[in-house]
Parts: sequence; structure tokens; C-alpha cells
Amino acid sequence: MAALLIAGGTVVTPRRIGEANLLIREGKIAQVGKLGGQAKRVAAQGLLVLPGAIDAHVHLDLPVAGTRSADDWATGTRAAAAGGVTTVIDFTIGAPDAPLPDQVARRLDEARAAAVDFALRAEMVGWTPDRVDELAAAAERGVRSFKFYLAYASSGRRTSLGTLRRAMEAIRDLGGTAMVHAEAEELVDAAGGPFPAVRPALAEEVAIAEVGILARETRCPTYIAHISTGRGAVALRAAQRAGAPLVGETCPHYLLLDEAVYARPDGHRFSVVPPLRTAADREALWQALRRRQFQAVATDHCPFTNAEKDAHRDDPTHLPSGLPGVETLLPLLYSEGVAKGRITLRDLAWYLSEGPARAFGLWPGKGGIRPGADADLVLLDPGAKWTVRAQRLHTRTDFSPYEGMTLRGRVMGVLSRGEWLVRDGEILAPPGRGRFIPWG
Ligand SMILES: [Zn+2]
Repeated sequence: MAALLIAGGTVVTPRRIGEANLLIREGKIAQVGKLGGQAKRVAAQGLLVLPGAIDAHVHLDLPVAGTRSADDWATGTRAAAAGGVTTVIDFTIGAPDAPLPDQVARRLDEARAAAVDFALRAEMVGWTPDRVDELAAAAERGVRSFKFYLAYASSGRRTSLGTLRRAMEAIRDLGGTAMVHAEAEELVDAAGGPFPAVRPALAEEVAIAEVGILARETRCPTYIAHISTGRGAVALRAAQRAGAPLVGETCPHYLLLDEAVYARPDGHRFSVVPPLRTAADREALWQALRRRQFQAVATDHCPFTNAEKDAHRDDPTHLPSGLPGVETLLPLLYSEGVAKGRITLRDLAWYLSEGPARAFGLWPGKGGIRPGADADLVLLDPGAKWTVRAQRLHTRTDFSPYEGMTLRGRVMGVLSRGEWLVRDGEILAPPGRGRFIPWG
């Protein structure tokens, strides 16, 4: 592979912004600065050069409610590439009767069509403390983050606080991270469907407080998934102040949408767990982002088609929950966050790249623009405008929660390990080129 010089762009990291040239050699960033010399030159004047985005929370090809999420590994990772996401973190398919290393092997097999690099997290379903050795066996296969649910008792996915505590002690010893879906089951009426009246903000706040105490006691690095409420962000902060190694994520849909959509005739298509909240919650989450109180913005990408949601329109208990997101993550956070002055460009590089990379063992190989890191880069035209149309996106659903929104900033180029996934707006990203990135 010939050396490549990305010349004249504005390079963005969480600490600095400035014009710099990047020399890429053998898939890695070789040098950053005022360079010239023998390399194929890519003119990046007028473009922002961002670290490739890492979507730390996606569900490709996931069995849900009698169907599967609409994107498989090929379509979902092509959509990721189109949106400037160069690494996704997906999950094993948790099952109470299969050893974790077998679940990892099965998922790695399914992921062969990936177009972007990926990591895996073990979904912990029906795990019991007598299976502690399986955590180390999963870590040996490169999976050191483990996801637990405090809700979903009826489908057998709920983990008790006692079991979670035992798992966290073991994960701490492995140098890994526990990820928790924080909703207190006792405060949820699951029969009412994926809506705020039955999945209240209180359930999130209580669960984050509980997990924060466990994290403080066990010293296990812990990551709260999809924080949807202002009170949830406050509970996260309180736990951090009390010394808990607790961090959190929020998602674009909690920043940009609120419960008003449920009153629309197509409101059921916005079903997601946790549900969309109030306009005040949206504002509180932006404020927390502005203060760098989260570790990542990730999407919980789990699309369904309109037909799949419409079939259960009047049957909330069978309505599949989940929204598409991976393709619009970076464009939305740039347009609605940076271009509107809610967060800075440096914040963007933290939330989409360095923050998730550091939380999940990808740093320093991924998530930064520095010598030795993988050349995973996004060239973004900050002035271009475009309108979101589900039919023009690459994810395999005919629904976008952001349909008709006009966004500022367009992904023009994407490099993964120095290879073009998107060039001059054209999507290349062949399936199967993505690599599994083991943690440790
Ligand atoms: Zn999820």
C-alpha cells in the first residue's frame, strides 16, 4: 500500500484543533505535522479530519420479538462506513445454556461479512456466579466487556444485584468493564410496552444509583448504557463524585427526540427502550455532554422496518423496540451538536472516538489521531447540507427517526486502516474486510 498524505485539512482531537498534514503508511498514522515528501497526496483543504467514529453500542442481526434486527453484518457495517463509523462494538447473543467462549466463537462466525472493524461484548443472560471461569475464557478470546440487564425479567435477561456484584468482582480482576442496562425492574410495568408512562425516569435513576454503589464497592469499571434522562445523568455524576469508577453513554435519539412523537399516528415506529423522554431531559443531556460528563455517544442501533413495527401497532407488548442510528450518528452529532453550538468539535472527537476507545480497550490503536494509531479517519465537509431520507440511507430499513431533517456537514471520505471506505462521497466498503479487534 502506497503512503498517503492527507494534506491541508483541519485535524480534530479532544485536545486540539489545527491544520496539519497526516502521513499514512501501512494502514497506520505515521506522522502528524507539516510534512511533504514521497506520498500520494489527498487534498483536504476546507475539510475537517476527524478520528473515525466508534459506535460502542450496536445490535446487528439480533433476534428480537420473533424477528431479527433489520441490518445484518454486511448492511449494518456498510451503513456504519457511510456515516463515518469505522469501528462498531456489537454483542454476543446471550443464552443461559451456552458457555461464553462458545457464544463468542459463534458471533465471530456471524460477523465475517463486516465491512468495518469491530469488537464484541458478551451479553450476559442467565449467567451464574459458579460460571466465573467463563469470564476469563471470554477475555482470552478478546472479549473483556460484559453487558447486564437489570430489567427484562420476563424474557430471562434480568440479572439480580447479587449476581451482578459477583460478576463485577471478577470483571475487575480481568481488567475489563461491566456494561449495565440500568432500569429497575420493580419500577417498570413491562406489560405496558416501550413507553415512558410504564418505564419511568425513576426506574433509570434508581438503577444507576444502585449500580454506582456496586461499582464503588467492587472497584469494577462500569459503563451505563443509553442514559435517557436528566435525573439519570445526575445519578451518574453523584456516583462519580462518591468515587465510583462509573461512566455513561447517551444516544442521539435521547438528545434529539422526545415523547411528543408517541402522539403521532406513526408514534409506535419510535418504540425504543429506554423510551424517549421529555424536552427538559433532552436539554439536560446536552448540558451534561457540554460538561464532558459522558464517556460516549453511541446509538444502540437496532432497526426494524415499518412493516415489522406496524404489525404490532396496537399490541405494545409485542412491538419490537429499537431505532436505526449507526449511519446518522456522526452527522447528527456534528449538525445538531457542533454546528448549533451545543458542544465543541473537540467534544465530538471525545464522545465518538477517544471516549469509547478508552472505555473498551481499543485505545491507543483506535480512537485517536496520533502516530502508531490505525489510520481510521473521516473527512467531513462542514459546509455541505443534506436532508435525511431513509430511502437514501444504507441501513436496511425504510424508517428513519430523523426523516426530513436537514443536516449541516457531510461525510466525504472515510479511511479504515488507510483504505478508503468512502471516497469523494462514494461508498466502497466491501463486506468481509472488517477485522475483529480483541481487547488485550
Ligand atoms: Zn442495546
